[in-house]
Amino acid sequence: MYKCFYCKGNMEEGFTNYMLDLDGQFIIIKNVPCHKCTQCGEVSYSGAVMAKIEKIVEVFKTTLTEVAIVEFAA
Ligand SMILES: [Zn+2]
Repeated sequence: MYKCFYCKGNMEEGFTNYMLDLDGQFIIIKNVPCHKCTQCGEVSYSGAVMAKIEKIVEVFKTTLTEVAIVEFAA
């Protein structure tokens, strides 16, 4: 069981929506697997998930789309 970095609460597996503001470009990645603190709501991502988020963001940066909403499990 993961412990929360901030409050030492229990981290449960779940999904969340990841939102990012890139200087006027907004990206929302839906249904990102995460661990979520049951006490304070802090969310953490595994290394593999972070790597995939970075890839999605890299692709998005090269487009001129102002807002992108993508499913994580694409
Ligand atoms: Zn917490």
